[in-house]
Amino acid sequence: MDVATALDRLPKVELHCHVEGTMRPRTVVELARGNGIPLPTADPTELYRYTSLDTFLQVFWLVQSTLGGRADWARLAYESVVDGAAHGLVYRETFFTPARHLAAGQDLAEIIAGLADGLEAGERETGARVMLICDIDRAYGGAAGRELVERLVELRRAGAPGTDRVIGVGLDSTEKGVDPTQFAEAFELAGRAGLHRTSHQGEETPPSYIETGLDVLGCERIDHGLSSIHDAELSKRLADQRIPLTVCPNSNVVIANAGTTWSRSASTGSRRAGWTRTPSEPSSPASRKRGPSWEHPSKSDRNPGLAGAAPRVVPRQGPRPATSSGRSGTRVSGWPVAARTAATIAGVDEIVGGSPTPRTP
Ligand SMILES: [Zn+2]
Repeated sequence: MDVATALDRLPKVELHCHVEGTMRPRTVVELARGNGIPLPTADPTELYRYTSLDTFLQVFWLVQSTLGGRADWARLAYESVVDGAAHGLVYRETFFTPARHLAAGQDLAEIIAGLADGLEAGERETGARVMLICDIDRAYGGAAGRELVERLVELRRAGAPGTDRVIGVGLDSTEKGVDPTQFAEAFELAGRAGLHRTSHQGEETPPSYIETGLDVLGCERIDHGLSSIHDAELSKRLADQRIPLTVCPNSNVVIANAGTTWSRSASTGSRRAGWTRTPSEPSSPASRKRGPSWEHPSKSDRNPGLAGAAPRVVPRQGPRPATSSGRSGTRVSGWPVAARTAATIAGVDEIVGGSPTPRTP
């Protein structure tokens, strides 16, 4: 069995996935055509050209803009489940970020209903299970965030289609220059409504933003949280309180340039710090080509997903995938970043710069 097949067969729980970013290249083109959205290139794989998180987000927003209505959201969601299941997905808590669509006149109820339509169809076909996290787009400010949560809570109380899948709220988009405290009201409202809370912090912002996410927004987990590694006290708190970080090593390396390699940036440091890490891949068609996604807290019984009902999946206790020479622990070179990361999780040696890195517990 080759490495790619072995990695695909590992069952996976994914806690950091943006559904809009999973759109197939062909779907981007077809939806853009159907909704009259001009693309800068006829080759969608060429869309993802960026030099920073913010320039990546510009592409991400363009892809988002191709979603014109309920049927489009359903198609996106369905294909996302099918494509994930092909790489071993069994459970996912996926973000959707409706701010730009709401500003363009779409209705939150239709967006959620469309996503639910597609997820249900995908689940029937694959057996995977997918829940939703409604992300507040930081760029739209605190008032828009509060209005979004108010509408979400209202729809849930009314039993609107698909809202039972929305298990939490999040906070995404550009981190720099946006004070997260302006979203306190939105997060408080979400908490009172029984929604779980998470937020993107610390990919491009200092540790204080992560503390704000925990102490002001009441987050139960943090998405990325990379800068924690530079604050010993916060790092210890994350470890002691078992606060999960949904780390996306490929995203950090490929998009945010937070390190030259996953191993050299957060992996080694966070392992030493004893964090609960849940590495994942960035959600874009371009990055998906680099390897399978994977998502699982190392101690799933203590740190289940937001839903608290994620299937128990413990890859390290199962058979380890064979490396290119057919046994675990063998030196493998030339893997892309995602494969190296997954191999580390799966129990084969990590390769940094062509040399095997000693495993740490
Ligand atoms: Zn994210």
